[in-house]
Amino acid sequence: MTITRRGAERLASGHPWIYRSDVSSAGAAAAGDVVRIRDVRGRFQGMAHYSSSSEIALRLLSTQDRPVDRALFQERLATAQSHRDRVVRNSNAYRLVFGEGDGLPALIVDRYAGWLVMQTLNQGMDRAQPMLVELLREMFPECGIIERNESSVRKLEKLPLRSAVVFPSPIPQPPSPAVRMNGLSLTVDLLKGQKTGAFLDQRENYVAAANWAKGHALDCFTYSGGFALHLARTCELVEAVDSSSEALAAARHNATQNGLSNISFTAANVFDLLKGYDDARRSFDTIVLDPPAFARGRAQLEGALRGYKEINLRAMKLLKPGGVLVTCTCSHHVGEGTFLEMLAEAALDAHRRITILERRTQSADHPILLTVPETLYLKCMIVLVDKAWGLWTVAARKRE
Ligand code: SAH
Repeated sequence: MTITRRGAERLASGHPWIYRSDVSSAGAAAAGDVVRIRDVRGRFQGMAHYSSSSEIALRLLSTQDRPVDRALFQERLATAQSHRDRVVRNSNAYRLVFGEGDGLPALIVDRYAGWLVMQTLNQGMDRAQPMLVELLREMFPECGIIERNESSVRKLEKLPLRSAVVFPSPIPQPPSPAVRMNGLSLTVDLLKGQKTGAFLDQRENYVAAANWAKGHALDCFTYSGGFALHLARTCELVEAVDSSSEALAAARHNATQNGLSNISFTAANVFDLLKGYDDARRSFDTIVLDPPAFARGRAQLEGALRGYKEINLRAMKLLKPGGVLVTCTCSHHVGEGTFLEMLAEAALDAHRRITILERRTQSADHPILLTVPETLYLKCMIVLVDKAWGLWTVAARKRE
């Protein structure tokens, strides 16, 4: 497998992906093969998984000339677990393997108490799955294993979509464990829930949000109640909103399980709800916005920013002076700078002055590898929203 000079430069910059346009000769490599990469001058560059269909033709597994075998995967999994031993606090639900961030491209493994949920998202990892299952069973003999392989990225790899309990079989009970997180107990539906069941990347942001939250709170896009439950411990009242009734049923179950009776649940489209509340001049002390990724690709960036701006502007208007806005984007394509610019524009248009309380990102069990910008995807800003000083209202009026 030979790659172009540009491909070799990319590897040298610390990025593990080689695009198809940078493969100068694929030789006889087949779908999911482990291949040795050379540059045009024949020099060894690394070992990688080859994909026969994706635009990302190669994902680097090692820059050393060594076999990609059981020992390599065992080593990477052990390193991943020891990193979690270090960074995961107050939770038995965490991301054990975060793909590229753990040197295991296209592999995700999440732990939920006595269960591991895995995703093998390219041809190479899919082929390695039986070996990975064996290794995980050795490392976690007490855990059941589930695969949630219905992610659409598998289509790019021409892999079938499937989800199932891999071990044990038959299953003793439906896999909906109650996990422990920050002193709460959360029930997670591992076969049908979103992602692998929960949004583990927000685990640390729940705590941070609850530290600032007060009074009457609105949690938009609540899913199974992650922010709402944490906020309910510091706020008087929390209203949790989602368009999915199944999500709200799960959130309600979680609230009851934790004896939290100060949360109300509203099934609504957040865009419509915020507009209606704005028209009705409702007000809140704390608002959380954690929408799904509006931009899945660069082409959708502009539309996505309009969507982010609309909900953020409305939320700022609904907040009382001194109110707290917790606002997130999980699109890698919306960088932190762009997200902050959007917030600044929304504040100008809403005639509010916003200051940053905390600039946050995904939980530390989703390691950000600085040479791989794609590994930084979640931005979570906690901002204080106040009345604008007279200074800027003229400018804002002109913009209207
Ligand atoms: N905050 C959640 C994760 C949110 S995921 C947590 O921490 O667990 C996004 C959620 O937004 C999903 O539950 C989805 O059902 C919901 N959703 C998507 N579009 C929506 C819309 N327009 N209005 C309301 N909810 C929406």
